[in-house]
Amino acid sequence: MVFQPSRAVRASCETKERYASEAEARSIALMNAAPGRAAATKPYQCTVCGGWHLTSR
Ligand SMILES: [Zn+2]
Repeated sequence: MVFQPSRAVRASCETKERYASEAEARSIALMNAAPGRAAATKPYQCTVCGGWHLTSR
């Protein structure tokens, strides 16, 4: 049985920036954070493309 990601998961993949590694995603999250504050987004590995995205918010 082939795993089929849900439409919502695929849509979130297509609309997000993709990073090659957790380290890259994490460094972008830190760059986007306000100075002196923790990153508001967290990297997670995507089940659709196998790359890394940041949680939106
Ligand atoms: Zn993806």
